[in-house]
Amino acid sequence: MQGLMQDWPMLISRLIDHAERFHSQVEIVTETVEAGRHRYTYAECAVRSRKLAQALERLGINKGDRVGTLAWNTYRHFELYYGISGMGAVCHTLNPRLFPKDIAWVANHAEDQVLFFDLTFLPLVRELEKHFKTVKTFVMLTDQSNMPKSLPANYLCYEDLIDGGDGDYTWPALDENDAASLCYTSGTTGHPKGVLYSHRSTVLHAMAVIVSDAFNLSAIRTILPIVPMFHANSWGYPYTTAIVGCKIVLNGPHFDGKSIHTLIKEEQVHITTAVPTIWLGLLDYLKETGQDLEPLEGLGIGGAAAPAFMIKAFEDFGVNVHHAWGMTEISPVGTMGSMNSITARWPLEEQQKLKQKQGRGLFGVEMRIVVADGSEAPWDGKTFGALHVRGPWTLKRYYRANDSALDEDGWFDTGDVATIDEFGYMQITDRAKDVIKSGGEWISSIDLENAAMGHKDIARAAVIGRPHKKWRERPLLIVVLEEGAVLDKDSILKFLSGKVAKWWLPNDIVTVDEMPLSGTGKVKKTGLRETFKDHKWPDGG
Ligand code: ADP
Repeated sequence: MQGLMQDWPMLISRLIDHAERFHSQVEIVTETVEAGRHRYTYAECAVRSRKLAQALERLGINKGDRVGTLAWNTYRHFELYYGISGMGAVCHTLNPRLFPKDIAWVANHAEDQVLFFDLTFLPLVRELEKHFKTVKTFVMLTDQSNMPKSLPANYLCYEDLIDGGDGDYTWPALDENDAASLCYTSGTTGHPKGVLYSHRSTVLHAMAVIVSDAFNLSAIRTILPIVPMFHANSWGYPYTTAIVGCKIVLNGPHFDGKSIHTLIKEEQVHITTAVPTIWLGLLDYLKETGQDLEPLEGLGIGGAAAPAFMIKAFEDFGVNVHHAWGMTEISPVGTMGSMNSITARWPLEEQQKLKQKQGRGLFGVEMRIVVADGSEAPWDGKTFGALHVRGPWTLKRYYRANDSALDEDGWFDTGDVATIDEFGYMQITDRAKDVIKSGGEWISSIDLENAAMGHKDIARAAVIGRPHKKWRERPLLIVVLEEGAVLDKDSILKFLSGKVAKWWLPNDIVTVDEMPLSGTGKVKKTGLRETFKDHKWPDGG
C-alpha cells in the first residue's frame, strides 16, 4: 500500500519562490566587485532570477545545457544559482583559482555554452577565450557604467541582459532528479572530475544542514558565508539561506581579516564559515588591532582540519566553533562537530579537544571505516581506515565517466583515512595519499601539523612524508615562521614531545616563506613534495 501524500518535486526554484513569499523583505548584502556595498531583498532577488531565466532562454539555452560562472560571492552570483538551475539548465561554477589551463579544460569538458564572469576575471577570460571550444557568449557581471569599451560583440553586460525581461516567468516543472549544478574537484592528480548535483540532492542537503546542530541558521540571524560559491556550492548556503530566510552578507572578492571583520561589525553577523586559511588571517588581524568579534555567535571551519589553537582562540572570543567535514563529491557537508547531551557536560577543555574531531554524520550520510583486510572497523575512536559514505547527496558516478564511483554495496570511498568513536564523532587522520607510513605504522600528518601550529614561532605548518632507508618514510615538518622569529628546531621538538607519540616526532624541520595553497585555499602538499624531493635527513637515513 502506498502513502497518500502529494508528489512535490524538490526543485531549486521552489526555494527562491519560498524566500520571495515568506522572507520578501529580508536583506542580501554584498561587498561588490566594483566598489561599495549593495543591498536588496530576497523579493528583488527572486524577480531578477526570473529575468535572468528569461534572458537565458533568449540566448538559446535549453534544459540540461551547462552555463558557466566565474565569480565571487555576490548577489549576482546568487541570482545565477537560481536563474540557471531554476530554468532547467546546469549551473557550472568554475573555480578561478585553478590554473588557467585547467579552467579551460573544465569549461570544455562541461561544454559550457555561456560564461558569466566578474570584472576581476576579464583579463583571464580574454586570455582563455581562444581555448574555450563551446562558450559562445560571455556575460560580464556588471552594469553599463562599468563595462570596458571595445569588447567583441559576444561580450554582454549582465544588467542590460536581464533588463530585457519583465520577470513574468513561470519556472518549468522539472523532474527532481534532473541535473541542477556542476562542480569539479580541484584534481590534484590528473584532470579535475565533475560532480553533477540534482535538484533533489541539493534541496535534501540544504534541508539537512539547517538543523541547529549543524549550521544553526535561523531567520533572526545574519550569516556571512565566506566559503566561495565557486567551491562546492558554498557548502549549500545559497540554498539554506533561502529556506530559512536569514539575512545574508556576501564578501565579494574580499577575504582579508580587516574586510571580514568590518562586515561582521557593520552588518552584525552572527554566523560565518570558511576554511582555516581565512581564519588565520582574521586572527592575525584581531591580534594586531586588539578588536573583538561581537556579535558573532558561531563560526564554521571546514575544508581542512581545524587546529586546536584556532578552536580555542575563537572560543576565547565567546564564539562557538563548528568543525565540519565534507567534500565536493558529497554536496559537500558530511559531518558537523556539535556537542551531544553527554559531551556537552564535559569540561570546556575536553569539549574543545572533541571539536578537533570533524563531528557526527548528518542524517543522510551513512559512514563506515574499512581496514586493510576489507572488514569494517569498530567505532572505538582508535581503529583507522578508509572512510566510506553513502546517501542521497553522495555522487554515484563522475560527470561523463563510464564507471560507477561506488563499490558493489553502493559505498563511496572518500580517499580519507579516519576513525569514528563510540559517540559517532569521526576524525580525519589524513587523506590516504598524505598519510606517512613509518615502519609498519601510520603517522597522521594532520595531527602533527595541528600540534606544531600551537608553537609560538610557527605561523603555518605542513607535514609531508619523505623516503627513509630504515623506516620507509619519515615526517618532515615544514613551517612558515611568525614575523621576526628564527628557526629553533630544539624548541619545536621539545614543544611537540608531550603532544604526539615520540616516534611521530619529525626527523627534520625546514622553513618556507609561504605555503603553496591550492585553488580551494588548502596547503598544496604535492607542491611541497616537489620542493623537498631531494631533502636529506640529518641522520643520513
Ligand atoms: P579539494 O579536493 O579541491 O580540496 P574538497 O573540498 O572536495 O576539494 O576536498 C575535500 C577534502 O578536504 C576531504 O576529502 C578531506 O580530505 C579534506 N577536508 C575537508 N574538511 C576537512 C576537515 N574538517 N578536516 C580535515 N580534512 C578535511
